[in-house]
Amino acid sequence: MRNSSNMVFLTFFGFTFPDRVNIGPINLRVRRFISHPLQCLSCYSYGHGKSSCKEASQCGNCSALDSHPEEHCNAAAYCFHCRDAHQVRSRQCPNVSPGAGYFTAC
Ligand SMILES: [Zn+2]
Ligand SMILES: [Zn+2]
Ligand SMILES: [Zn+2]
Repeated sequence: MRNSSNMVFLTFFGFTFPDRVNIGPINLRVRRFISHPLQCLSCYSYGHGKSSCKEASQCGNCSALDSHPEEHCNAAAYCFHCRDAHQVRSRQCPNVSPGAGYFTAC
């Protein structure tokens, strides 16, 4: 029997996590899930959503403060998180992959 209701979500903090987890008599294999952390679509900080944002909005392409929306941006891509040449929401950004991850066991 294998269906999605057998899936258990576990959260581990840090870079190390076990290969197997025992829950009662059941031994579960752990698989890593790459998750995207909550990112605000207005100021592009992490940890809150746009609806609860109190910061100035930024361009998602060039990181300019309060000037233009991402769709109208003509500037070169610049990420204020890591000061590298990619869009703020890019998966290339090292800030997208923090140490905490989500795992499924099945
Ligand atoms: Zn925000
Ligand atoms: Zn821009
Ligand atoms: Zn970046």
